[in-house]
Amino acid sequence: MNVKEYLASSSNQIVLSHFDADDQSLAPEGKKESKKELKSLRKQLVKLQQVLYAESKHKVLIILQAMDSGGKDGTIRAIFDGVNPQGVKVASFKVPTPLENAHDYLWRIHQKVPANGEIVIFNRSQYEDVLVVRVHELDPEKVWKKRYEEINKFERMLANEGTTILKFFLFISKEEQKKRFIERLENPEKQWKFNPGDIEERKYWDAYMEAYQDVIDKTSKPYAPWYVIPANHNWYRDLVISHIIVKQLKSLKMDYPEPVENIHQYLDPLQNS
Ligand code: AMP
Ligand code: MG
Repeated sequence: MNVKEYLASSSNQIVLSHFDADDQSLAPEGKKESKKELKSLRKQLVKLQQVLYAESKHKVLIILQAMDSGGKDGTIRAIFDGVNPQGVKVASFKVPTPLENAHDYLWRIHQKVPANGEIVIFNRSQYEDVLVVRVHELDPEKVWKKRYEEINKFERMLANEGTTILKFFLFISKEEQKKRFIERLENPEKQWKFNPGDIEERKYWDAYMEAYQDVIDKTSKPYAPWYVIPANHNWYRDLVISHIIVKQLKSLKMDYPEPVENIHQYLDPLQNS
């Protein structure tokens, strides 16, 4: 699967206004066949995570950003189904608490980054501080403008210290969001997800797209790349993201740590005990 076309880089500048949220071009075999592939990717991920945890050498940070109803929760559920919860954590970033607000914006973020052997998934992230903060002018422009550079430096530091960083913007269309909101309003099992503020937020769609475009243009780096994922179809979104994560973990060339010396010598006394 050639996921490069979703990778934002200097040689592949992604323009959100032209990006197709319905795209399924990397899975020509369609939804049904892809379910099998997703299952196999999940199995691989479970194994890779086991080695990551055992080896306790690499740190993995996965950042998920999306518009409301963009599928962050569903992605986490679908992809990490079955992994060992000891080594995987989710950190969700909401409206900052008074304590968080009394600190710099990276303070709460830094506390949640992965340790050796861990995978941490950020459900929203430091990028809210150049997204919602920018769109709603929660801080003046001269404050948030500096943050792109600061975030790049922060992520560079994490990468230098052994963190693999992957960033995903789950891209749904405005039409798809409307469909999902209606579903939330009508389906009793989804009504709990509905937040009246989401309707107000939807009015700022274009401003958000502009803010996301800047995020992608300014903060997609080889050490912390942004992938823009077509996310109108959940199965396709899950397939592409799993593929990228599995590929990245494989490239770490991890292995179980060496067992203690002469491990077999312990077998006899144990069997006779
Ligand atoms: P949800 O993810 O639906 O539970 O919503 C969390 C809300 O917190 C979203 O509306 C975010 O925009 C908001 N949020 C997250 N981080 C920040 C931040 N740094 N400043 C202001 N609002 C934020
Ligand atoms: Mg919400």
